[in-house]
Amino acid sequence: MKFGGTSVGDVAAFQRVINVVASQAERRPVVVVSAMTKVTDALLAAFDTAKKGDLAGAIGMLEPHFARHVEVSKHFIPDETPNLFDTELEFARKEISDLLMRASRRSLPLSMLKDAVVSYGEQLSSRLLAEVLKSCGLNARQFDSRRLVVTDDEFGAAQPIWEETRDLVRLDLGRSIDAGEIPVAGGFIAANRAGETTTLGRGGSDYSAALFAAALNAGELQIWTDVTGVMTCDPRICSDARTIPVLSYEEAAELAYFGAKVLHPKTIKPAVDHGIPVRVCNTFEPDEIGTMVLGEAGESPSRIKSIAHKKNITILRITSARMLGSYGFMSAVFQVFERYRTVIDVISTSEVSIALTLDDTAEIEKIAADLSRLGDVEVEPGYAVICVVGNGLRASTGLAAKIFSTINDINIALVSHGASSVNLTFVVKEDSAADVIRKLHKDFF
Ligand code: ASP
Ligand code: MG
Repeated sequence: MKFGGTSVGDVAAFQRVINVVASQAERRPVVVVSAMTKVTDALLAAFDTAKKGDLAGAIGMLEPHFARHVEVSKHFIPDETPNLFDTELEFARKEISDLLMRASRRSLPLSMLKDAVVSYGEQLSSRLLAEVLKSCGLNARQFDSRRLVVTDDEFGAAQPIWEETRDLVRLDLGRSIDAGEIPVAGGFIAANRAGETTTLGRGGSDYSAALFAAALNAGELQIWTDVTGVMTCDPRICSDARTIPVLSYEEAAELAYFGAKVLHPKTIKPAVDHGIPVRVCNTFEPDEIGTMVLGEAGESPSRIKSIAHKKNITILRITSARMLGSYGFMSAVFQVFERYRTVIDVISTSEVSIALTLDDTAEIEKIAADLSRLGDVEVEPGYAVICVVGNGLRASTGLAAKIFSTINDINIALVSHGASSVNLTFVVKEDSAADVIRKLHKDFF
């Protein structure tokens, strides 16, 4: 069971987590937890402040966040009981100050110090949650994930070394579960072979949870967050949007781009590869079923699962007679985007032109200027990408035709179909997007 930062944001959130864990205690859960909301950001900001030389400022900005931990601890843990969290917090304060001082003096490599500092978010949240669960009568025990997840030396975005991680997790957590305990571990944090603290990249707690689930051959990986899974479309557009019960991994991956609320495909891959179902659950509605992601969701012919969309999209078109029959043209175009570190989303090409969509237009003028050496460039803002996802697109003939005939009065600016057999994407003017989505939703759901 993985709980994200908002699920451990304050006293009320901790109470919800206690209820969820207690209600499933006999299923022998392992609990993975993110840092309390905003704590990772605060630690990163403190690190930057210290790096610039303002040590006192850096330490000062963490105090309110320590106070949030203390408030939770005080609320759940009676004063007289020995409290491992208080001890942990005292150590953490000293260690963080020491690390920030090193950062200000640059006495160790900065990337290494940064991971060491940022790891305290999960070190503290996991210790706090374990103590809180214990105070509620649950047999919880905190584990330091830096002794469980072994990674390479890529600080800030370390890659786990699977075999070593698997063996450690099986040994330590396996033994704890067999002893009737509920292991509680921080997500996101790990260590390299030398024992130096590393992190798995922002949002990496899901990744840790998936690794633990895979290593332990868990019956299910539950990702507890503040939404009830993935919806058939945006509920702000269609009031009859509903939660999708089952998605295949492929479908979930295609939908990931459309909302931060959807699982990142990379992070749940270890679980999916080991055949472990991944369930998105809502701490506010713990009895709702949520969305289940499976390696193979089973074909449901002529079904689409979700209509996702994104507004504020710009179309860029490059037309050039030079493109006809030549090689290397695409490569030259893509290099321009690489140079300006700009992500391209949808792409469609003809013999002498390329159309593509961009989400981030910060560098659009420079990009257009560079591209104009390759051909005529047009930039058109004000579009929306609409993406229809479902295994049904692969399984049934005529579904694409049905989709387009449903919206035959709408002008479609760009279509992309076939790269993935579960995704049909098209681009329309932003002001017609809501109408298109409602029509499709009505027809297909
Ligand atoms: N606390 C880390 C972050 O904010 C990891 C996570 O939340 O998954 O990125
Ligand atoms: Mg998070």
